[in-house]
Amino acid sequence: MKFGGTSMAGIERIRSVAARVKREAAAGNQVAVVVSAMAGETDRLVGFCREASPLYDPREYDVVVSAGEQITSGLLAIALQAINVPARSLLGWQLPIRTDTAFAKARIDTIDTDALEESFAAGAVAVIPGFQGVAPGQRITTLGRGGSDTSAVAVAAAIRADRCDIYTDVDGVYTTDPRIVPRARKLAKVTYEEMLELASVGAKVLQTRSVGLAMKEKVRVQVLSSFTGRADGDGAPMADTLPGTMIVGEEEIDDVERQLITGIAHDKNEAKITLTRVPDQPGTVASIFEPLAAANINVDMIIQNIAHQSASNGASSTSATDVTFTVPAADLARSIEALNQARETIGFGELIHDTRVAKISVVGVGMRSHAGVASTMFTTLGARGINIQAISTSEIKVSVLIHEDETELAVRVLHTAYGLDAEAA
Ligand code: ADP
Ligand code: ASP
Ligand code: MG
Repeated sequence: MKFGGTSMAGIERIRSVAARVKREAAAGNQVAVVVSAMAGETDRLVGFCREASPLYDPREYDVVVSAGEQITSGLLAIALQAINVPARSLLGWQLPIRTDTAFAKARIDTIDTDALEESFAAGAVAVIPGFQGVAPGQRITTLGRGGSDTSAVAVAAAIRADRCDIYTDVDGVYTTDPRIVPRARKLAKVTYEEMLELASVGAKVLQTRSVGLAMKEKVRVQVLSSFTGRADGDGAPMADTLPGTMIVGEEEIDDVERQLITGIAHDKNEAKITLTRVPDQPGTVASIFEPLAAANINVDMIIQNIAHQSASNGASSTSATDVTFTVPAADLARSIEALNQARETIGFGELIHDTRVAKISVVGVGMRSHAGVASTMFTTLGARGINIQAISTSEIKVSVLIHEDETELAVRVLHTAYGLDAEAA
């Protein structure tokens, strides 16, 4: 059972979580619980790091931001003990959850299950703080924002759990963020592949890596609400009675259930960088992206197509091109630094950056076999006067970059255009 930030926000909610855990344990299930920090807490801690220094050391950032989960895991253990459920917290380094050394976005390598097995054998509930691990050299790491989902799936995989129930503040995965489009429809099932793509383009209901891991390790993942049903002791609902979303293999979806477009996602956490007048010659693009890769910064959308002649009379003209790409907004300061350091090698004119952008994506396996998905997207946005700044596609996804202020409008009109709106009640 994994409980997200809103589910853990305050003692009353933690009591309600404890009641849900007790109910599952009382039914004879062996339960390990993974918890997030209280809602807003990780943002607050990240803010402190940025305030202390925009170019903070990721090692120390991890020490700071992992703290929120330490607090909630201890509090849930206390709340469980208070209702006579034996419980013990097991921090990332105690379990341990071993990761690589990519601080702030570490990947889990292995999970030692001895302590967990002992806790099961003793009839106790293990409460594991999500989001944190330990790197070689004993330094604390964190798994990237939203990483508690990945902690939960990784623990479930390590102990070969029957299921990994992700409890959050919505009762499942919807065709788009239900907080933006009230007419979004809940999906009873969604395939690993589509969920992976949806998560990777911004549907933050599950962290992307958690879905990738679940797919690889064949973990049954279910998304459920922790706000449904009574919150007290015996009245708390069991997972089996809750209507959530099951993440399934493609073979578990019938043809009738299959839609052309599964969902629409948005992501406001990217920043756009344009390098102007870079020489149009072999090796230039590599010289831009090498320093970013060396700094462990993931580049997402890339466009390089605004070629123009630098000399209008055609005399000694060398052609130059603008290169535009997006990086996580959180990595913008480090990206600018890395690019400026490589300025002479790259030979760019200006570096222009913009954080007021949003990426809107439509996802669906149906587009493999249907033409016109992208064109519907462009026509719909164009009709609303929404300008497209960049485009990228994959086999089952089309993404566009637009101005941030137009996010909600874009998601709504696309949701309608692809016929995803729920019937009005
Ligand atoms: P938690 O703290 O429980 O991990 P998150 O805030 O990380 O919760 O994720 C849940 C949120 O994801 C929901 O409140 C919802 O606004 C958002 N969300 C975005 N896209 C979707 C979607 N397609 N279906 C459901 N929720 C979504
Ligand atoms: N607390 C962390 C975050 O806000 C991890 C999580 O909640 O999944 O990103
Ligand atoms: Mg989350």
